[in-house]
Amino acid sequence: MDRERAIKAVEEFLAAVGEDVSREGLKDTPARVADMFAELLSGNGDDASVHLSRAFAVESGEMVIEKDIYFSSTCEHHLMPFFGRIAVAYIPDKKVAGLSKLARTVEVYARRLQLQEQLTSQIAHAVHKYLGARGVLVLCEAEHTCMTCRGVKKFGSKTVTYSIAGDFPEKKMTEVMALLK
Ligand SMILES: [Zn+2]
Repeated sequence: MDRERAIKAVEEFLAAVGEDVSREGLKDTPARVADMFAELLSGNGDDASVHLSRAFAVESGEMVIEKDIYFSSTCEHHLMPFFGRIAVAYIPDKKVAGLSKLARTVEVYARRLQLQEQLTSQIAHAVHKYLGARGVLVLCEAEHTCMTCRGVKKFGSKTVTYSIAGDFPEKKMTEVMALLK
């Protein structure tokens, strides 16, 4: 990220919405916002294949579910946060991911400008491709502040998305959905 340029852009934006950029309260705001976005978008420089290559060999091909992975991401339509939780269920093919690696994978894709549908699908495809799982189901439940702070102002309303990559049997899908209720 070009930090200086981002700082200038925030200054310019504040001026455009009628603020006096030189007033005390806004003195450090442009730099603060620029640094915050550097962190919120740090997933662009991260790589899920690195995290998911840290895998362990297993004999069984029984389904693994990692649930309640909390995340926050940034809506690319409004630059506002959306946040919630994700569950990743997968059927391994002789390899399982280290416990923190699925959470890291979520972070890689959440720390970008995102859409919830795209976030869900990118995680599913990464676990399928980089971990080599036979089938993956990702469920995501999130609240969008661009919906709750403006427009219809439906506080607490959640959007649920799911995505499948590879071969995930329908019977297993029903099992997972019941487990996560
Ligand atoms: Zn939005």
